[in-house]
Amino acid sequence: MVQYVSEQAASVGSMPYFSPIEALGPDAIGEIQDRRLRAQYAYLWANSPFYRRKFEAAGLGPDSIRTRADLARVPFTLKPELRDSLKAAPPLGEHLAAALSDVIQIQASSGTTGSPSYVGLTRQDAIMWQESSARSLFACGIRPGDRVLHGFSMSKGFVGGLPIFQALQYMGALDIPIGADGGVDRLLAAAFDLKPQAVVGTPNFLLHLAEVAQSQLGRSVREIGVRRLVVGGEPGGGIPALRERIAMAWGATVCELMGGTDLGVIYWAECDEQAGMHMTAPDHIIAELIDPVSGEARAFDEGATGELVYTAIHRQASPVFRFRSGDHVVVTATRCRCGRAQPMIRCFGRTDDMLIVRGVNLFPSAVQDLVEGMRPTVSGQVRLIADFDGHTTQRNLKVVVERAEHDTVDPDALRREIEGRIRGALSVKAEVMLAPYGSIEKPGAAKVKLVLREMPSIAGLQ
Ligand SMILES: [Zn+2]
Repeated sequence: MVQYVSEQAASVGSMPYFSPIEALGPDAIGEIQDRRLRAQYAYLWANSPFYRRKFEAAGLGPDSIRTRADLARVPFTLKPELRDSLKAAPPLGEHLAAALSDVIQIQASSGTTGSPSYVGLTRQDAIMWQESSARSLFACGIRPGDRVLHGFSMSKGFVGGLPIFQALQYMGALDIPIGADGGVDRLLAAAFDLKPQAVVGTPNFLLHLAEVAQSQLGRSVREIGVRRLVVGGEPGGGIPALRERIAMAWGATVCELMGGTDLGVIYWAECDEQAGMHMTAPDHIIAELIDPVSGEARAFDEGATGELVYTAIHRQASPVFRFRSGDHVVVTATRCRCGRAQPMIRCFGRTDDMLIVRGVNLFPSAVQDLVEGMRPTVSGQVRLIADFDGHTTQRNLKVVVERAEHDTVDPDALRREIEGRIRGALSVKAEVMLAPYGSIEKPGAAKVKLVLREMPSIAGLQ
């Protein structure tokens, strides 16, 4: 029997966290991580031709990795390697380390850079996914018995769909699986009819829902009485101005979470202290912070930035070892009053999204953050135009900013103001164009595409 509801679910309602693992200090968690790391490394030698080859090529033997300190000797695993492995040995690649007959579930990545990639789960893996995601959803304020409206996409094998449904059920909450792809009308109808205590979805989409309710139904989503908005899937949840708008629109607290397809579903989540996301599954995943250029490991000290690298230490099917996530984060704090002992982070961008403008690294979300912060002088909508090959340009960066609704500001002055702010805060020279209010496409079910590969046709661009 697949376990649908965790035994913990009945008793956690008044607990400060879903699992006592989350409160373990560095020594106790380190001991678990080292023990599981040794077991996982031995498992990969025995069961993964992909990793055995990689370890041998790096001059490592079956006993080379004993503790976390040894991890630096292992080469990184990159996303294209996993894609090649999937192609070389369908259906789940040479890195599938379990028998295919033991795989009970397959999920797909969103495939932002080409074809989707697939990950397999054994029964143990599926329960691990549900456990770590339940811890995360609990940290974000969802409790057993809550009705949760599902505003992430439910289709295409995306981990924001069925796996989150499973995690909510596992923790004793109730998921209303309409999904972003079920459409705004259905979602709003379910929200007003069923009065969920929480809604999960991407931040821009939840804002969009609130706006559509107002403009098309003439109703405020505040009357639903939603307590928590649990957002993820794009960096917006970490942008203070955007967060504030979503919270105001719904009259609810916004909590952010983060994860991915390759390691789990959700394994970072924000608690009531609202100061960043804790790692919630340190007994299943070792997270390292690295310098994205040199690859050197960095300590999780407050204020440190870097890219996250993950090693699965309790995984049977599709395990990854020192996997470069492409997520760039800042450590916001290392202590928290909630009782969780793991450090807290915010994600400010992904390697895939990064542009290099005249040698300066730029994450599009930083520009969005800045433009959001200029409301109500502008609408808050912004698009970056990357009309060049690859990610690097030697020209000024073209930025389209939408004007505010009843805007009488002189366009030249407004352009200069935005260009000055971008140069001052981000050291990038921008060429700003102003678009009339309402001309930039609002996010539907899909993630917001902040970067466009060609200039959109917008009438009245100034
Ligand atoms: Zn906390």
